[in-house]
Amino acid sequence: MIRGHISRITGPVVIASGMTGSKMYDVVKVGREGLNGEIIRLEGDQAVVQVYEDTSGLIVGEPVENTELPLSVELGPGLLSSIYDGIQRPLPALAESSGSFIARGISVPGLDRKKGWSFMPVVKPGAEVKGGDTIGTVMEFHIEHRILVPPNISGRVKEIQEGEFTIEEPVAEMEDGAKLSLMQKWPVRIGRPYQRKMDPDTPLITGQRVFDTMFPVSKGGTAMIPGGFGTGKTVAEQTLAKWADTQIVVYIGCGERGNEMTDVLAEFPELLDPRTKLPLIQRTVLIANTSNMPVAAREASIYTGITIAEYYRDMGYDVSLMADSTSRWGEALREVSGRLEEMPGEEGYPAYLATRLAAFYERAGRVICLGSEGRKGSITVVGAVSPPGGDFSEPITQNTLRIAGTFWALDTSLAYRRHFPSVNWIRSYSLYLDSIQPWYLTAGYKDWKEVRARAMYLLQKEVELQEIVQLVGPDALPESEKAILEVARMLREDFLQQSAFHDVDSYCPLEKQYWMLRVILSFFDRLNQAMNKGVPLRKILSLPIKAEIGRMKELEDPKRIQSMMEEIDQSILALEAER
Ligand code: ADP
Ligand code: MG
Repeated sequence: MIRGHISRITGPVVIASGMTGSKMYDVVKVGREGLNGEIIRLEGDQAVVQVYEDTSGLIVGEPVENTELPLSVELGPGLLSSIYDGIQRPLPALAESSGSFIARGISVPGLDRKKGWSFMPVVKPGAEVKGGDTIGTVMEFHIEHRILVPPNISGRVKEIQEGEFTIEEPVAEMEDGAKLSLMQKWPVRIGRPYQRKMDPDTPLITGQRVFDTMFPVSKGGTAMIPGGFGTGKTVAEQTLAKWADTQIVVYIGCGERGNEMTDVLAEFPELLDPRTKLPLIQRTVLIANTSNMPVAAREASIYTGITIAEYYRDMGYDVSLMADSTSRWGEALREVSGRLEEMPGEEGYPAYLATRLAAFYERAGRVICLGSEGRKGSITVVGAVSPPGGDFSEPITQNTLRIAGTFWALDTSLAYRRHFPSVNWIRSYSLYLDSIQPWYLTAGYKDWKEVRARAMYLLQKEVELQEIVQLVGPDALPESEKAILEVARMLREDFLQQSAFHDVDSYCPLEKQYWMLRVILSFFDRLNQAMNKGVPLRKILSLPIKAEIGRMKELEDPKRIQSMMEEIDQSILALEAER
């Protein structure tokens, strides 16, 4: 065993001497209490260790033991509904074994060792299997948890049994003697293998109009939500966790305010999956970094989270990974780097910030999974970013911008005006519009792209016209341009605004989104035709149908909304006839 001693302590970083033979990312036990740590640099016989627990009280000369294992997570039944810290220690169990203060040096395993799971094999003795093949299933709440052959194993099954097993008991034996159990381990810094990535051709349906219709993200794509304090990042992440059409959610929370994570921890287990009315936590793995946890654990948390996401992806599920917020992760990276006395880059962040961010987002994707079944699975990553002062020019925002496929820019002034989601429609974008276009065609929305483009055009035109109005006042505008301002306002208020807390409006099916937009645009078209025939704008604007359009959000039946096209036509025909 490699056993050295502490030669220097600087905050969450410890330098250990006498560590010859150690490897990068080996997990070590630091000091007499055996604090958990990870080697992040090697120099001669010295290992630089980031420690996942409070290092106060450590003394130079205390022992450092290398476990010679990389930082890994346990993967198997029991993950769902778990609440972990950044290195997969279950928070409830931690609290139990040490009271409300998390004692140091505790190693509580990620998965329950005692619980029995009823295993149903799907292969027989003699079957030839390889990494990624399903050997059987276990029910984890309502999710079928597929027990897969670990990536590095293949061969002929000698024995396999049905029955109740704990995660450590072997359920199958290979002819070469290898034993398979319900649990496998995987090093968090290394992406789990798959056969190949697929094109981002399927949208993630979130039921949020500004996301799905205006700035969609694909299944397996990446989205970033930057926004200042109070702009709605957390509400957006939780809305997506509830509504996005993925079977599994991995939610990584890094508290922004002191007690924010405490709120999340108290509230999350109460949330119901709005579709099934079952607790949302039953298809969620929650990773929580409360602000009293050491920074290094925060740094590790996104890797722990994405490795768990990959595991469910490998079973053929669509997984969404929410990280709120990645800024707190970046700050942890910065603090550790500062302790290492590395050459600081922009604003004190290490020069490798960009590559680390890219490597993390790179683990998103829609893939053909490992194994002979050709399963498809995906991980969509949605990272919130909290730039100080809401200033997007800072390094985390800028570096994430270069990577993320969808940019949902939250806007302080919109949030202040209570326009929610406060997504700024001028600054935001989606790079997936073209690749998911065929999906919309097949789904029956032939002119989805044109409809969206027309709405965007009117919203952009509004900005130009508002500038003119600022200079010369509204009366200087011709009627046709006043009409654009009116319709742009309808687009903002009657379409883009969507309450996350309204019974009906919190989820807007795609069909409804489409017809809502069509209705507003058809109002615009009919309005222009009528004006060309001499009908005054104010008359059209005072039609009852306009107020009805404003209440479309609350209607549940998309057919009812579609039928408003006809009503618009009728009421405007009547006005034209008056002439
Ligand atoms: P952040 O995480 O960016 O600091 P929050 O997500 O906590 O901000 O949102 C702040 C507040 O804004 C919420 O408490 C809520 O009142 C309001 N809000 C945000 N998004 C919405 C929404 N989609 N619908 C209604 N209210 C919202
Ligand atoms: Mg928040």
